[in-house]
Amino acid sequence: MEEIISLCKRRGFIFPGSDIYGGFAGTWDFGPLGVTLKKKIMDEWWNYFVENRDDIYGVDAAILMNPRTWVASGHTATFADPLVECKECKSRFRADKIADGISESVTTEEFLATHTKCPVCGKENWGPIRKFNMMFTTHVGAVLPDDDAELAEKNIAYLRPETAQGIFTNYKNIVDTIYPNIPFGIAQQGKAFRNEISPRDFILRDRECSQMEIEYFVHPDTWESEFEKIYKECDDFLEIRMGLKPNDINHLEVAPEDRAHYSKRTVDFMFKYPNGEEELMGLAYRTDFDLQNIARESGKSMEYRDKITNEVFVPHVIEPSIGVERLVLAVLSTAYTEDEINGEKRVVLKLPENLAPFRFCVSPLLKNKPELVAKAKEVYDLLRKKYTNVTWDDSGNIGKRYRKQDEIGTPKCVVIDFDTLEDGTVTVRDRDTTTQTRVKISDL
Ligand SMILES: [Zn+2]
Repeated sequence: MEEIISLCKRRGFIFPGSDIYGGFAGTWDFGPLGVTLKKKIMDEWWNYFVENRDDIYGVDAAILMNPRTWVASGHTATFADPLVECKECKSRFRADKIADGISESVTTEEFLATHTKCPVCGKENWGPIRKFNMMFTTHVGAVLPDDDAELAEKNIAYLRPETAQGIFTNYKNIVDTIYPNIPFGIAQQGKAFRNEISPRDFILRDRECSQMEIEYFVHPDTWESEFEKIYKECDDFLEIRMGLKPNDINHLEVAPEDRAHYSKRTVDFMFKYPNGEEELMGLAYRTDFDLQNIARESGKSMEYRDKITNEVFVPHVIEPSIGVERLVLAVLSTAYTEDEINGEKRVVLKLPENLAPFRFCVSPLLKNKPELVAKAKEVYDLLRKKYTNVTWDDSGNIGKRYRKQDEIGTPKCVVIDFDTLEDGTVTVRDRDTTTQTRVKISDL
């Protein structure tokens, strides 16, 4: 993991957030290569789940939502972690992350019985477990610092802790404007915010992240077969579009006692990250829990009328939900490879061609030969017209350029040399095998 973090910083994929001011815990900034990789991953998902099919519609809801949203969804009451404070050194921790064998709903007695020592000072002197709500609050409208607490309370809003509720709250809009046949889905990508007690593990547990979620609405009688279909599609997406290896994904059927009370089936897709197994995505059957909550809170009907049978019912929902940063890190850890070329250690990112920030790198063998540079520019322009993501590199010697392109995952390097001027062929060097072949410019 340290090697990947170091590569990400060195090559401009991911920087610590607000680096210049000493950082800001739980935030990360994507640099030129990182943002390209992230965008490609998000575009592949959108293409696979929305553009490529007729039954899933996209939305882009506002991040700031009416606070009643979070009352209805249960976040105001229950989106909380067990917080425990060490009375000796005042450090605060998520209780279930520092003690073994306890869950998020741990009580003070259960926690004390584990005899956990403070990870900071080593003492065992704990305060009670307190529930810490992870939603970020803000105030909407003109609220001044010296306004009374009641006015401030009235104007509280939250940065959304998930994108899903922006989908559910638009369910009726979609039904009333698109008239979709059931089953149908609504998809959204966007930022979500969680005030993690202790952000850690690089971009795995950050306070600001991007999510890609679908709520797939089905007839209650068909949820089992629809669940299986989406399950298969998620696996195909991860393997075919993202290049993840099936062996690195562990499908965890979540036991009834660990599932949310309304869910009848949940599968956690666990990914083998370099520092251990972590959840990459979740697939949950949520029954009609969310739509019924919204119906109760808003007083509006969430019923759907089947166009053929005229049956009226509240649809049930299957929800595949994935964190973009978690997926970026899964793609990077799959691609990250160390090997040896002619006795020299090499770091190479074996990114799939559809995700590599650059598909080609074009360079003249020598920088100080104008005729080579001119020819190389010509080839560069040609490739750029065909593929937009082409980069130019004439720095250092050719070996250094290859090493740099290997580290950022460029599949092919195209080099223009003196033979090019004679016979119109170039050297194409392959990232993974390092083999070099002569190819006619017209065949590139
Ligand atoms: Zn302590």
